[in-house]
Amino acid sequence: MPNPSAQRPPDRLDIAVLAQSNGQLSGFDLLSNQERLVVDLSGLQPDSLFNWQVSAWLGSEAGAKPQVWMRLRVSADLPMQCQRCLETCIEPVAVEREYRFVASEALAAEGDDAAEEDLLVLSKQFNLRELVEDELLMALPLVAKHQRCPKPVNLAVQDEGFEAQAETKKKPFADLKGLLVKDLSAKRG
Ligand SMILES: [Zn+2]
Repeated sequence: MPNPSAQRPPDRLDIAVLAQSNGQLSGFDLLSNQERLVVDLSGLQPDSLFNWQVSAWLGSEAGAKPQVWMRLRVSADLPMQCQRCLETCIEPVAVEREYRFVASEALAAEGDDAAEEDLLVLSKQFNLRELVEDELLMALPLVAKHQRCPKPVNLAVQDEGFEAQAETKKKPFADLKGLLVKDLSAKRG
């Protein structure tokens, strides 16, 4: 069992120093510590952890100054509200991304479109904790859903009234078809 007090991502990391020694850092953090993320979660257990890992190195192109690179991996099982049955479902999320550090905001903005890796500004106080939470936020599925809901889903919407319910009874598959169409478009999007 990982220890909840195990290493959180540092909020002040001298990434260049880590890169010079081909260093790695890893640890666990509580999902409940991610203040911006918890807003989108549902049924979160207070002791739920996620895993993070970084490695850094100096990359060099011929004739250029060595540059600081970093690879980040984050994996988490995020509890979210299933949009079909409204119970909690677990969405596994895994992020793996590479970053190159540049000297200034201007250089980062300039190079970002062309580069496959993400560009960040080099700093002795690089906030890894914030980046990890950003990546988790970006990895959130747009629509959370069970593969198969644990309970049968009630297709009738409560405030639609008696007539609508009667309509549903007459055509039991009409709503289901609507759901399937929504399903498909969600996957495509
Ligand atoms: Zn469900």
